Amino acid sequence: MQSALESTLDIQKIRQDFPILDQEVNGRPLVYFDNAATNQKPLPVIHALTRYYEGYNANIHRGIHHLAEQATAAFEASRRAVQAFLNAKHWQEIIFTYGTTDGINLVAQTYGRRFLKEGDEIIISTMEHHSNIVPWQMLCEEKGCVLKVIPVDDNGELLIDEYEKLLSEKTKFVSCVHVSNSLGTINPVKTIIDKAHAVGAVVLIDGAQASSHLELDVQALDADFYVLSAHKLYGPTGMGVLYGKKDILDAMPPYRGGGEMIKEVTFAKTTYNDLPYKFEAGTPNIADVIAVKTALEYMAGLGKENIAAHENDLLQYATEQLSELNGLRIIGQAKHKIGVISFVLDGIHHQDTGVILDQQGIAVRTGHHCTQPLMQRFGIAGTTRASFAVYNTREEVDRLVQGLHRVQKMML
Ligand SMILES: *Cc1c(COP(=O)(O)O)cnc(C)c1O
Repeated sequence: MQSALESTLDIQKIRQDFPILDQEVNGRPLVYFDNAATNQKPLPVIHALTRYYEGYNANIHRGIHHLAEQATAAFEASRRAVQAFLNAKHWQEIIFTYGTTDGINLVAQTYGRRFLKEGDEIIISTMEHHSNIVPWQMLCEEKGCVLKVIPVDDNGELLIDEYEKLLSEKTKFVSCVHVSNSLGTINPVKTIIDKAHAVGAVVLIDGAQASSHLELDVQALDADFYVLSAHKLYGPTGMGVLYGKKDILDAMPPYRGGGEMIKEVTFAKTTYNDLPYKFEAGTPNIADVIAVKTALEYMAGLGKENIAAHENDLLQYATEQLSELNGLRIIGQAKHKIGVISFVLDGIHHQDTGVILDQQGIAVRTGHHCTQPLMQRFGIAGTTRASFAVYNTREEVDRLVQGLHRVQKMML
């Protein structure tokens, strides 16, 4: 059945922008359902990368020759595009990083080390990715801060009442994921931010999963920091964004020392550059930063609400179809979800599931999804996860269901 929303995008035409999808794996047409790990790149993004290397590869900011100026202009145009994408107030609030992990570490190592002290409390949630757990544990170890964790219910939703109980004047920092990569849960981040601000805490939101599915507005959210990775929004790997409010970023000490982040260096004293360059030491991923603008334009061209509607249709369809399999339990049944569906099969290890699906050309992710504490919360070692992007189809969901029947036939 074709839904009304599905018909607003021509998925077969969109698939032609992703040549990687047009291949056979183990003798079957590839079904790529590992989009929450990284999604595929459309031709315009790939062409933006090759255009840079073929036409104007040069180091940025420091050169006065033609190619350097061209590269610098494209690099800074990307910053403006990201500013618009997040609706940040100032372009100086957009820091290019190597990804979400890098952005969180930057904040923990600069803001955290400078402004947090012994006994201060940091709140995260049970559904955090390891990259939003470990940097805070490292900071707590060094500074004697205390880590508190918001629990989740059986549906995979945060217990906001419990969060309120954790908040006090001791709370100095809250770091929470916008959308769970393991469960698909969309968290009420505006509420989380407002309640943290009410006790004077600063808030970071991990937007790695949210960025390709939801409309983002850091000013409306009033987020102090927002981090994301380009490779999860149809852009290149190894490139990400840290948004931070200007006054907070200004007060923070620099992260890495080196070229570009300085104003003047003498052996007696070094003065640091202005935002955003203070946090961008060394030669960045120039090509990848430039290509992010193309990725954002690609998404805007399709319409983010159209993408979300299509993925939502796939989620509803997959949830219905998978629910009919005997012995299949969906982990994560929140009311508000993106197109991520995690499940366990009775009596079958997720790794066997993944291998047998791969033999049928179906790519899913299996394991703990870098969220081991969340798996412990549900009393499981891991899940099989199918996650959707704009180029996926209902027919591919049918292939997954058939594939799982085969898994059960082979393993039970
Ligand atoms: C992928 C992901 C990260 C880590 O992103 P990197 O690109 O690997 O740095 C963090 N949080 C969430 C929710 C993610 O999905």
